[in-house]
Amino acid sequence: GTVLSIRDFEVGYVTPRGTVKAVRDVSLDVQPGEFVGIAGESGCGKSTLALAAARLLDPPGRVLGGTVQLAGHDLLSLSPEALRQVRWRDYSVVFQASMNVLNPVLRVRNQIYDAIQAHGRPDRAALDSRARELFALVGIRESALDAYPHELSGGMRQRVAIAMALALEPRLMIMDEPTTALDVVVQRQILQELSEVRQRLGIAIVFITHDLSLLVEMSDRVAIMYAGELVELAPAHELYAQP
Ligand code: ADP
Ligand code: ADP
Repeated sequence: GTVLSIRDFEVGYVTPRGTVKAVRDVSLDVQPGEFVGIAGESGCGKSTLALAAARLLDPPGRVLGGTVQLAGHDLLSLSPEALRQVRWRDYSVVFQASMNVLNPVLRVRNQIYDAIQAHGRPDRAALDSRARELFALVGIRESALDAYPHELSGGMRQRVAIAMALALEPRLMIMDEPTTALDVVVQRQILQELSEVRQRLGIAIVFITHDLSLLVEMSDRVAIMYAGELVELAPAHELYAQP
């Protein structure tokens, strides 16, 4: 069934001038293996939507209404303990500066090994081969594997973060401008890889960017946000179609 179902979602920020709505009446369904792009100009509410739906929104952000069903869980009403079980296993979130998912005191190789082992204990050969597959997939060079995150360029770190998110094989990956800091060639390469992996593993991807043209050829459906609302939700190929 549906992996993510957002209904009548309303999110605001508590400010000295009162609560300002940043997400207004958003509803969105995402199917397993589907690639949904969310585009819209800076400040339209994309990050707020992603963070709040993943229950990673920090104050002063607040969910004002609506529901989020994620992999069968009523996410907004889970206890912190229950939420801990669901996080990472059912969904992972990658941000533009995704140091949040990297451990500063672990070498790249070990981070990926740990992520793979979150699913069980493959033997050494299986572990190595899965890790190599992932490194190749996101283009991490051999010499980077023994580095610590801070020794890598921003682009390499981002690739490690994406490899980790993939290693966890969640049912849903939410990606908020994960490639914006990378050059265009790398950006397209990673998008291509994501598009392939979701078909192979059935991982659903919600990919957020301000860059609409980047999404059109990669996405099954594209949602356009404007001033906190989803103003358009259409198959990517229909978006630029002229009447
Ligand atoms: P986008 O990701 O599309 O750039 P955001 O979700 O970051 O948009 O922001 C949506 C709106 O919420 C903007 O008007 C922004 O100024 C406001 N906003 C974001 N974070 C905060 C915050 N911590 N406090 C108050 N307002 C915020
Ligand atoms: P705590 O255990 O203190 O409540 P959290 O569980 O809220 O902390 O999250 C710990 C860190 O991991 C935070 O930086 C949060 O952004 C990040 N995090 C938690 N779950 C995910 C996820 N599914 N994808 C990406 N980052 C996550």
